[in-house]
Amino acid sequence: MSKSARKLLVGLLLLMVSGLALGSLYGDPVTGLLVAAFLALVWQVRQLLAYDRVVRTGEPDHFQRGDGIWQQLYSRYRFEHQKSEVYKRRYRDLLAEIRKSTDAMPDAAVVIDSDNRIVTSNRAAKELVGLRPKKDKGERIEDILHHRDFSKLLNDSDFSAVVDLPSPLRPGHWLNCRIVPYGVDQRLVLIRDITDRLRLNKMRRDFVANASHELRSPLTVISGYLEGLTDEDIPPDLHVPFHQMQSQARRMNQVINELLELSRVESAGQASFDDSVDVAGLMHAAAKTYRSEPGAPNIVVDADPTVRLLGNATQIESVITNFVSNAIRYTPVDGKIVMQWSAKKNAARLAVTDTGEGIPAKDLPRLTERFFRVDRGRARSDGGVGLGLAIVKHILSRHDTELQIESTPGVGSTFSCVFDQHRLDRVSQAQSDEVA
Ligand code: ADP
Repeated sequence: MSKSARKLLVGLLLLMVSGLALGSLYGDPVTGLLVAAFLALVWQVRQLLAYDRVVRTGEPDHFQRGDGIWQQLYSRYRFEHQKSEVYKRRYRDLLAEIRKSTDAMPDAAVVIDSDNRIVTSNRAAKELVGLRPKKDKGERIEDILHHRDFSKLLNDSDFSAVVDLPSPLRPGHWLNCRIVPYGVDQRLVLIRDITDRLRLNKMRRDFVANASHELRSPLTVISGYLEGLTDEDIPPDLHVPFHQMQSQARRMNQVINELLELSRVESAGQASFDDSVDVAGLMHAAAKTYRSEPGAPNIVVDADPTVRLLGNATQIESVITNFVSNAIRYTPVDGKIVMQWSAKKNAARLAVTDTGEGIPAKDLPRLTERFFRVDRGRARSDGGVGLGLAIVKHILSRHDTELQIESTPGVGSTFSCVFDQHRLDRVSQAQSDEVA
């Protein structure tokens, strides 16, 4: 038992004994005891009410009287109260620091709850999307930033997905949005202005396209003269450099043509992506052309003519041509190439499989990089530029799909892509025969 509790009990006991003694003096010890107990009760109730006032108002000065156990309770309360005030101040300072740093961020950060309602946002959210920190609290974010792609992103459970949207406030500006999990049942929407990045990308694309155009004209003249000359027009000791000039000029032409195609695909803003493309027909035509090439392996086409693709015919033809020309380049003459176009209920798959030399697993992720070739020396002599799959990647992303590559060195490779139902146009056998 603590010292103060002991003091309280001794005090009460002394009061009772005094009451009893005083009562006995007047011949009524019970009344004396009752009066003493009543006085003790009144005193304790007063202390209790004073303590209650201190706790309710948070003002320790209300409690000035008392000692012993009440004084101890009061000291403990004052200690805890001061401690909590210190914590509160620290928490407030910390919050202010966090707010200052999120406000200093150039990117918008918006915390939303599981119902997409805004919990809090920083200053950049106001500048980028016009979100008012106080007024818009509790509003649904899609009511403020309404765009089909953004609503899709909100419902997406894949947190690596991003979307680019036109700015709702500044015409010509673009925003990049991503969503990451945050706290319990909350998400953080991060929005950044990517206008400068897009502008730089456009400048780079324009530069490559312009430089390629400028190089093409003089090269056409040089190639024209070189192709017009024969060995008879050249002294014998210049035959070797002459043939090298011819082959390098052809190669430069190929590089420039592919660079121009890449820029066209990258900036194909106005191109139509709704043609009903006869993929089976394109496959048969490509197979016919490539079968006549010297050293071409056996080419088989297995394509469903009743399914068409809603897309850009020229670009899809380019994808097929890239797949087949690569397959031919890297498959021996006794190998086999299979071109497939097959549909299931909700999707269709375009694939070209070869029994060629295959690609080492470490190189697979790099195949769509510009100018990347697995074996630079050999591919150069074989005429590969290293831009074909970069072009394919862009075309496929414009058709809402992506390139898939499976390959085993020494066994062969499959280059494929799967198109979603919304890109398919199913026709009857009679209709497909009609077009063929
Ligand atoms: P390239 O013009 O060099 O063929 P691509 O971008 O089309 O350029 O291909 C990049 C590289 O991928 C090629 O250099 C080659 O090393 C590899 N590659 C592409 N297709 C195949 C294939 N079917 N078999 C083996 N390697 C391939």
